Amino acid sequence: MSQTPSEGCSLWFEQALLPDGWARDVRITVADGLISDLEIETPRAPTDDAHGVALPGMPNVHSHAFQRAMAGLTEARGPAKSEGGGDAGDNFWTWRQLMYRFLDRGGPEEIEAITAFAFCDMLEGGFTRCAEFHYLHNDPTGGSYADPAELTARIVAAAETTGIALTLLPVFYAHSTFGGAESNHGQRRFITDVDGFADLVTRGRSLTARLPDAVVGVAPHSLRAVTPDELAAMPGLAGDGPIHIHVAEQTKEVDDCLAWSGSRPVEWLLANAPVDERWCLIHSTHVTETERRGVAKAGAVVGLCPLTEANLGDGIFPARDFVANGGRFGIGTDSNIQIGVADELRMLEYSQRLALRARGVMADAHRSTGRALFDRALSGGRQATGAEASLKVGLPADIIELNTGGVGFASRSGDAVLDSWIFGGARAIRSVWRRGKRVVADGRHIARDAIEARYRKALSVVLG
Ligand code: ZN
Repeated sequence: MSQTPSEGCSLWFEQALLPDGWARDVRITVADGLISDLEIETPRAPTDDAHGVALPGMPNVHSHAFQRAMAGLTEARGPAKSEGGGDAGDNFWTWRQLMYRFLDRGGPEEIEAITAFAFCDMLEGGFTRCAEFHYLHNDPTGGSYADPAELTARIVAAAETTGIALTLLPVFYAHSTFGGAESNHGQRRFITDVDGFADLVTRGRSLTARLPDAVVGVAPHSLRAVTPDELAAMPGLAGDGPIHIHVAEQTKEVDDCLAWSGSRPVEWLLANAPVDERWCLIHSTHVTETERRGVAKAGAVVGLCPLTEANLGDGIFPARDFVANGGRFGIGTDSNIQIGVADELRMLEYSQRLALRARGVMADAHRSTGRALFDRALSGGRQATGAEASLKVGLPADIIELNTGGVGFASRSGDAVLDSWIFGGARAIRSVWRRGKRVVADGRHIARDAIEARYRKALSVVLG
């Protein structure tokens, strides 16, 4: 079923999306995990493994893998607020209750098992690299583990188990809100100081050294969790890696930032941090036109997480206007409530359609909606995760195959294949190769059974 990268293999596809567009009858030869040759308009040889449509694997720019375990458990509204009554319920109540339970009970084994489960879902959903925004560092009491990087090692192990490419983003988190406020009990597992954090980044680099193509960056959690002085230390710790930060996700954050500094969060960041192409601003939901243009001009990527932002009721990022200004975006699965490339891209487009009462919002003059969304998310994803992702000689053979034999693809080719996958709703991913190894076959990760069994056990500890 699968071929190891070192053996080398030849894969033949009816169509493939290459950097300069669609090609037919494509043979991709893999050696040592990399694409060693790529031929187009070449007939299938008897020895070729024949497949449907090949797409480059998509980078996932934002994930908190452990939150996968909470999917579907946080949809109740909770009690109405006591003051004032009415129906103004605390709609984060169930989420917070579950989060606290998790923080009390989730140990290294549980975190590794849940992370592997999330990574397995990502590969099946078309993501071949994950930027893991990793902020659980401490034990349930808030103290360090004997190895302070214990949980980082578990994330790395989960990447190794599943085969997903990892962009590790250790998170710096030190305060409960703007102005350097002291952290609270609920944050005890996230907290470090700058020196401890620098050690975590160094350890992250050595722990990921055994993975074939890991990237390590840094993630100051948000302007709430980090003071200006602490933020200033982050670019130096990132080395050549990317810098990610949550920003302007909800209106309360904007109001609190205005009260603290007189500036809105993205406005503050652009004025006070060296925001450039290394930066990925996660969410950026609430931006003015000036902020939007500023981010585009700086060349930073906006990390959009459309399903999570919809689930949390954050608001709608002005994607059409941002792209019109030359803005770059990637897509992330964030809370991992639901995992899939097509699902994120569809939600992104539909949110714009609902807000603007228009169709084909993210399409452009040369490309269909699905194609333009896919190309832009791929390009922004590459930049934000610090790793190439294309079907090109010399790059890792990270490939998604759509099963175009399915009836949803009847009489379709080129951009219509992408549109039918994204908007037609078919569960179409049949195979995924990571560095030439087929890690998803017939829609299932090759290690899914063992990963699921371990996950079920972990959930019985956390929720039982
Ligand atoms: Zn997040």
